[in-house]
Amino acid sequence: MFNDMKLTAVFLLLFVAASFSCNYRHADPVIAARKAYFNGIARNDIPLGPPQEGDWRAAHKEKEQTFEAYKAARPVKTTAARSVIYLLPVGEFTPLQEKVLEAMREYTAIFFQLKTVLLPARSDDAFPPNTFRQREDGHIQVLAPYILDSLLKGHIPNDGITLMAISAQDLYPKSDWNYVFGLASYVDQVGVTSIYRLQNETLDTANYTTCLKRLNKVASHEIGHMFSLHHCLHAQCAMNGSNNLGETDRAPNRLCSACQQKLYWNLRYDNQKRLQELVDYCRQQQLQRDLYLLQKDLDAIG
Ligand SMILES: [Zn+2]
Ligand SMILES: [Zn+2]
Repeated sequence: MFNDMKLTAVFLLLFVAASFSCNYRHADPVIAARKAYFNGIARNDIPLGPPQEGDWRAAHKEKEQTFEAYKAARPVKTTAARSVIYLLPVGEFTPLQEKVLEAMREYTAIFFQLKTVLLPARSDDAFPPNTFRQREDGHIQVLAPYILDSLLKGHIPNDGITLMAISAQDLYPKSDWNYVFGLASYVDQVGVTSIYRLQNETLDTANYTTCLKRLNKVASHEIGHMFSLHHCLHAQCAMNGSNNLGETDRAPNRLCSACQQKLYWNLRYDNQKRLQELVDYCRQQQLQRDLYLLQKDLDAIG
């Protein structure tokens, strides 16, 4: 009898908890007005497991950025006159690399639902000699802060909201570092990354899809930072911090529901249209894992 009562109480509690989560109403009216969408995709959020040795979270103790903290950070907002994302290739690119950059531009435009322009490539021929160095295996590296300071800061076109450079050459941040994946100044809304390590040194048809998947992740993650999104601790998410390529590969090309709430609150796009376009893009580009996750989100809001 006592046990039955206890069991009933447990079920009752579970029922109350379940109804609470189904009827969850967000404190912010902008998000509450889209509760069917956000409650739907929240069911697909996968919790973060413990970090592996060498992972970002093993080395950095970060605090979760709540929705209210995001609003309080006064993130940069687009205006009618200033809303374009600019991507600037730096160096010499093969036709296949140009193709992967164009595919990444298309993804970025869909991800943020903002016009995204791939600028003509800027040659690095005229860079001062002290901005290059050659590694023992012969590959050339470019000094990333030089690109940031000379080509990007203060050079966002008038209608631009961010400017991100993609270097053909590998990057290094200072003389005593081996390399760096990228460098950014979020205050100035600019950043630079390199395709070199994302394509496993040389891009070919065999690693094209892997490179595109990584480029898409790096672009959405870095530009996400420029819109004041912090690293995500809520779930497996494109905004998870990353210390190495293996960790970048493990993170999904999907924003969790908490990060999507922040980005939507800022940019006010059509959530369903965005999701459908991401699904269509991943199907077209044969990005199978991304397609699986995004289709699941689309099914959850159907
Ligand atoms: Zn980051
Ligand atoms: Zn997230």
